[in-house]
Amino acid sequence: MKAGIVGLPNVGKSTLFNCLSNAKAQSANFPFCTIEPNIGVVNVPDTRLEKLEELVNPEKVIPATVEIVDIAGLVKGASKGEGLGNQFLGNIRETDAILHVLRCFDNDNIVHVDGSVDPIRDKETIDMELQLKDLETVEKKLDKVKRAAKTGNKEAQKEEAVLLAIKTGLEAGTSVRAVELSKEDRAEYVNPLQFITDKPVMYVCNVDEGAAVSGNDYVDKVKAAVANENAEVVVLAVGTEADITELETYDERQMFLEDLGLSEPGSAKLIRGAYKLLNLETYFTAGEKEVRAWTIPVGATAPQAAGVIHTDFEKGFIRAEVIAYEDYVSLGSEIKVKEAGKMRVEGKEYIVKDGDVMHFRFNV
Ligand code: GDP
Repeated sequence: MKAGIVGLPNVGKSTLFNCLSNAKAQSANFPFCTIEPNIGVVNVPDTRLEKLEELVNPEKVIPATVEIVDIAGLVKGASKGEGLGNQFLGNIRETDAILHVLRCFDNDNIVHVDGSVDPIRDKETIDMELQLKDLETVEKKLDKVKRAAKTGNKEAQKEEAVLLAIKTGLEAGTSVRAVELSKEDRAEYVNPLQFITDKPVMYVCNVDEGAAVSGNDYVDKVKAAVANENAEVVVLAVGTEADITELETYDERQMFLEDLGLSEPGSAKLIRGAYKLLNLETYFTAGEKEVRAWTIPVGATAPQAAGVIHTDFEKGFIRAEVIAYEDYVSLGSEIKVKEAGKMRVEGKEYIVKDGDVMHFRFNV
């Protein structure tokens, strides 16, 4: 599961990527500075993990991670192969969620590809390229379905109606995620086509230092423009946060953040947001050797969760011993949880809850 960073050139994508992954992707003041898609693996900040560490005092602590891809080079005309467009659209197709960076800062020294700062226009430029690509997808599919529908095939007629709704929406500038359709129709006809504009999206407003907390007029406009998309809008001073990551000590970084009025880096919020956007959640294992956060899709069963540790755990799954995170923390240790009768034994059907602390019993 990975989230892709998209946006026009010079909006701060690679600065954000650097800041998130501490990987040194190029960042320069001209378009196409990052030509290969860059992939980074980022720890997911989670205070629960710190709390468990305090209680268990293990040798090692391993956080959950999320994969972030910096997808540069999306420009006007990309869907027609302009710039390095088509290749990048292919890269976006392989992601599971989109972080759409919008330039919400003024700076005459940093060139804007379209000559002025206007996040709404920028968003529409990117959306249009993605929508044009999806339009190709839906038209191809419609050609096939239409023939079957003409022969009177009821199923095909239903599918045709759904696809036509999508086509009409895309032509009017509506992304697939915002087209009104039933859950069933989506599952049956829409999801298999893997539309780019159907991927969950989060908008990242890149602002200057002073606007990290309060936002600015650009941010207000973005929020108003995406109100109907049910998407999260995160405000982040990307350049400033990149500077903060350069500081040596934790205390220095914390002081800098407090000066900005932040209790934690905005990037932490962004990463957690990306994790949620990918529909992921966390369960923990907690032992003296290791306290660890494991990543599962929301709705995973106990055996599936065990399978994330090792496929043999899933195959040979017998049962899981589960402690709710709140019980673990309020009682303070596994032994006390057991004494209080709060450790549950769960079987194959158990749907794991975010924060569960688990042990697995399995046959080898
Ligand atoms: P990309 O083309 O979207 O990957 O953009 P870059 O990350 O390479 O950023 C383009 C330029 O804008 C670089 O010179 C960055 O240092 C600068 N930049 C990025 N974020 C900010 C910001 O929040 N404020 C200001 N003033 N400059 C920024």
